[in-house]
Amino acid sequence: MRYIIISDIHGNLEALESVIESFSGSDEKEILCAGDIVGYGADPEECVDRVISQGARNVLGNHDAAVTGKADTALFNANAREAVEWTADRLSRHAKDYLNGLPLVFENGLFTVAHGTLHEPEEFIYMMSGAEAMHTFEILKTQVCFVGHSHVPGWFALKNGKVSYSNGSRIRLEKSSKYIVNAGSVGQPRDNDNRACYCVFDPQKKEIELRRVEYDISRAQNKIIEAGLPPALAERLAQGM
Ligand code: ZN
Repeated sequence: MRYIIISDIHGNLEALESVIESFSGSDEKEILCAGDIVGYGADPEECVDRVISQGARNVLGNHDAAVTGKADTALFNANAREAVEWTADRLSRHAKDYLNGLPLVFENGLFTVAHGTLHEPEEFIYMMSGAEAMHTFEILKTQVCFVGHSHVPGWFALKNGKVSYSNGSRIRLEKSSKYIVNAGSVGQPRDNDNRACYCVFDPQKKEIELRRVEYDISRAQNKIIEAGLPPALAERLAQGM
């Protein structure tokens, strides 16, 4: 069994379809989503439908929470807030009910999934430092935790009480270490690489890989412009920022 971890799709159907296509040939797999299916992109409803039809397990992201009124958008920047309002106006009751029912944390004995951090997951804290990672390691019950939220793929490792960080794309799990892996973003990467990003975990091989997939960026951009969403949300897709 292999696990596919996707995160931060943000209503980008073109990116999501390319990612699904890239792993659709592989045999036994389970799909997990680390949150933020919606927000920013022009196809939120379609992305929710695709995640559900893939049978993916999903946790709640801050944009998912905002469109259902569960989270305050006070901390969102103007473009993000506008996209949340646009999304909330268009999303069906069915999709909102789905998002509203999502848990903040998922754990299956093998690994854990959360959008931001494991401590105060409802606060959607960005895990950007070793100190922040340490708080999550302290309460992590499994060897691996997958997160999203920052849209920057990479991983923290805890070994002999010390935390290290790497943006390498392949992780070989060591028995004595614990890991927090940021799966990057399917629909709005922010590490200067405009390709969609996702993660594959093979527990038998004890290996985790961060993968990149090209998708039709201009099509996704055109939809954002035609929808009347802020043009900056289209521009950043090409930059991967
Ligand atoms: Zn996000």
